[in-house]
Amino acid sequence: MLIGSYSLALVFISLCVAILASYTALDLTGRIATARGWAVHLWMAGGALAMGVGIWSMHFIGMLAFRLPIELGYDGPLTLLSLLIAILSSGFALWLVSQPRLPALQLAFGALVMGAGISAMHYCGMAALKMQPGIDYDPTLFGASLAIAVVASAAALWIAFRLRRNTPYVRLARSGAAVIMGLAIVGMHYTGMAAANFAQGSFCGAAGSGLSGKGLDSLVLVTSLAVLSIALLISMLDARLEARTAMLADSLSQANRELTHLALHDTLTGLPNRVLLADRIDQAMHKVMAEGGCFALMFIDLDGFKPVNDAFGHHMGDQLLREVALRLRDGLRSQDTLARIGGDEFVLLVQLAEPDDALQVASRQVGLISRPFRLAEHELQISASLGIVLYPGNGQTAEELLMNADAAMYHAKGSGKNGHSFFDASMNSNARKQLQLLQDLRQALEQRQFRLYYQPKFDALKGTPVGAEALLRWEHPEEGLLLPDKFIALAEKTGLIIAIGDWVLDEACRQMRLWYEQGYQHWRIAVNLSALQFCHAGLVDSVAGALARHQLPANSLTLEITETTAMSDADASMAVLQKLSDMGVDLSIDDFGTGYSSLMYLKRLPANELKIDRGFVRDLEHDTDDAAIVSAIVALGQALGLRIVAEGVETDMQQTFLTRLGCDSLQGYLLGHPLPAERFMADIGRLKQPVAS
Ligand code: C2E
Ligand code: CA
Ligand code: CA
Repeated sequence: MLIGSYSLALVFISLCVAILASYTALDLTGRIATARGWAVHLWMAGGALAMGVGIWSMHFIGMLAFRLPIELGYDGPLTLLSLLIAILSSGFALWLVSQPRLPALQLAFGALVMGAGISAMHYCGMAALKMQPGIDYDPTLFGASLAIAVVASAAALWIAFRLRRNTPYVRLARSGAAVIMGLAIVGMHYTGMAAANFAQGSFCGAAGSGLSGKGLDSLVLVTSLAVLSIALLISMLDARLEARTAMLADSLSQANRELTHLALHDTLTGLPNRVLLADRIDQAMHKVMAEGGCFALMFIDLDGFKPVNDAFGHHMGDQLLREVALRLRDGLRSQDTLARIGGDEFVLLVQLAEPDDALQVASRQVGLISRPFRLAEHELQISASLGIVLYPGNGQTAEELLMNADAAMYHAKGSGKNGHSFFDASMNSNARKQLQLLQDLRQALEQRQFRLYYQPKFDALKGTPVGAEALLRWEHPEEGLLLPDKFIALAEKTGLIIAIGDWVLDEACRQMRLWYEQGYQHWRIAVNLSALQFCHAGLVDSVAGALARHQLPANSLTLEITETTAMSDADASMAVLQKLSDMGVDLSIDDFGTGYSSLMYLKRLPANELKIDRGFVRDLEHDTDDAAIVSAIVALGQALGLRIVAEGVETDMQQTFLTRLGCDSLQGYLLGHPLPAERFMADIGRLKQPVAS
C-alpha cells in the first residue's frame, strides 16, 4: 500500500478556507433573508457561487495537501464537475435556509441532500486522480465520512437558518458558528481521505494530462480567497446600506406619524381637533346608516372661562383647559370622541344604545365641570353649557349637526348656564341665518357690496363742519342695507374684519382726498377700528399705505378705538398707539365712559380726542347723574388736553347743554345722519345755526 502524507501548512490553510467559506455563507443567508424581489435571486446566485467555490477550494487544497510517493495530477473535467456539484449544493442550501420556515422534516431532508452533495463533490474530486487500479475505500471510514457530511450539513443549515436575521451580536454568533461548520467540513474531508487506500504500484492516470504542478495550490487559494472576500465585502456593504436605509425609512415614518398627529390633534390638550372630529362624525353616520343605532353630538362651552383667563393670564387658562379636557375625557369609552374645536369649546361624540342615554351622559359631563378646579393654590369655579343633537334626527351632515349642537348650546347658556339643552328645530332658524350670512359675508368684499356712509362732525361753537365719521354699511343683495351691528361681530369672529377694515381705511382716505382737493383741507375723516384690527400686526402698515396711496397728510385721519379695546391689553395697545401717534395720525377714544379706564393709564395714552358715549348724551335731560358724569368727563378731558366730542346729539337741548359744558365738537342725528358721500355735501348745507353759548 502506498503511504500518503500531508503538508501541514496546506491542511491548516484548508481549515481556514473552510471557516471563511462558512462565514461567507452565513453572512449571505442574512442578505437573502432581508432582500426583496430581484435582489433575492442575485444574492442566491452570487452566494451559491462564492460558497461553492469556498467549499470546493477547501476540499481541493486538502487534496493538494495530500502527497503520495508517486506523481499526482487531477483530471480537468472531473475536477470541474466537482466544483459544479459544490456550487449546486451551496445554492440548494441557501435556498433552503431562506424559506420562511424550516420544519424538522425539511431540515432532515435538506441535510441529506446537502450531505450527499458534499460527499459527491469529494469523491468526484478523488476520482479526478484517475488512480490505476482504483482507490480501495475502507467501508467504515467511508460511511463515517458520509455521516459526518450529513450531520455537519444539518448543523450548518440549522445554524444558518437561526442566524439569518440581523439581531444584536449576530456577527459574533456567525463567527462562532463558522468555526464549527468549518471544522465539520474539514472533518468530513479528512475522514474521507483516511478511508482511501492506494494499492502498492498504483499510478495516477491524470498525472501527465491533468491539472498538476507547482503553484496550483496558491492559484486555487488566491482565487477562492478573492471570490470569498469579494462576496463578503459586497455583503457587508449592502448590509450597511440596508441598515441605513432602514434607519432613514424609520425616522421618515416616525416623522410622518408625528405630522399626522399634529394635523389631527389640538396641541394644548392632545385631543382630536375639528378636522379629525369631522371625520369621526362621518364615520359614525356611515355606521348608523349601515348597522342602525344612534349617536349624540354634544357641544360643550365653558361658562366663566374668559374671566379666569383675563384675571390669571393665559398660562393659567391653558392649564385649566387641560384639566377640563382630562375630566371630560375621564370615564368615556374608547369608541367615543372628545374633541377641542376652539378656545373653550369641546365637542363630544358618543355612541348610544338608546337616544335616551344621551341625557345621562350630558348631565354627567356638566357635573364633572361644575366641581371646583385646584390650580396652583387657586380654587377655580367654572361650569359648562352643553347642547345636544341626536343622529339620526337632528341633521343630515356633520356641519349641520355641529351647527345645531352649537345652537342648542347657546340655548343652554341662555337658560342660565351650567346645564344642557336638547336641540329643537326652533333653535336653528337663527343659527342657519347666521351661517348663510357668514357665507355671504365671505363674498361681500369681492362683490363690492360694502359702502361707507359719512356722518358729519361739527365745531360746537361755530357750527361749522370739522370732518366726518365713516360708518360701514353692507348692501346685501337680498336683505337690503345692513347696519354694522348685523355683521361686524361675525366679521370679527371669522377674522374677515381685517380685510374689511383695510378696505374701509382705503375707501375713507380716497373720499377724504376728494374733499381735500375741494378745499376742505382742515377736515378729518374718522375711521372705526375693531379690537381685532388693533391687535393685528399689519395695522400700522395698512394705515401708512392708505395715507400714502391717497397722498393724505396723516393728520387728516382720525382712528376711533373704543375705550375697552384701548385698555384691554394696555402695554400692547400703548405700543401700537404710540407708533400711529408718531406717524401723526389723530387718535380718538370712542364710547368713553363705558369702560373702566384708570386715570393713570388715560394720562399715558397718546390720544387726541375723547368721544363721550351716546348713552350719557341720551339721558342727559332726565338723569342728573349723567349730566354730572358728562361734565366730569369734559373737565377731565380738558385737564388732559384732549378734544371732547359728544356723539348721539338728537335734540336742541342736548346740543345747548353739551356746548355749554365745553365740548369741542358734536355729532348726531340732529346735525346730520350718516349718508353716502354724494348726499353728504347737500345735507350739511341745510345745517342749523349753532346756538350761542
Ligand atoms: P360708533 O363708533 O359708536 O358709531 C356711531 C353709531 O351711532 C353709528 O351707528 C351711528 O349711525 C349712530 N348714531 C349717530 N348719531 C346718532 C344719534 O343721534 N342717535 C343715535 N341713536 N345713534 C346715532 P352705526 O353706523 O350703526 O355703527 C354702529 C357701530 O358699528 C359703530 O359705533 C362702530 O363701533 C361700528 N362700526 C361702524 N363702522 C365700522 C367700521 O368701518 N369698522 C369697524 N370696526 N366698526 C364699525
Ligand atoms: Ca365711532
Ligand atoms: Ca361711539
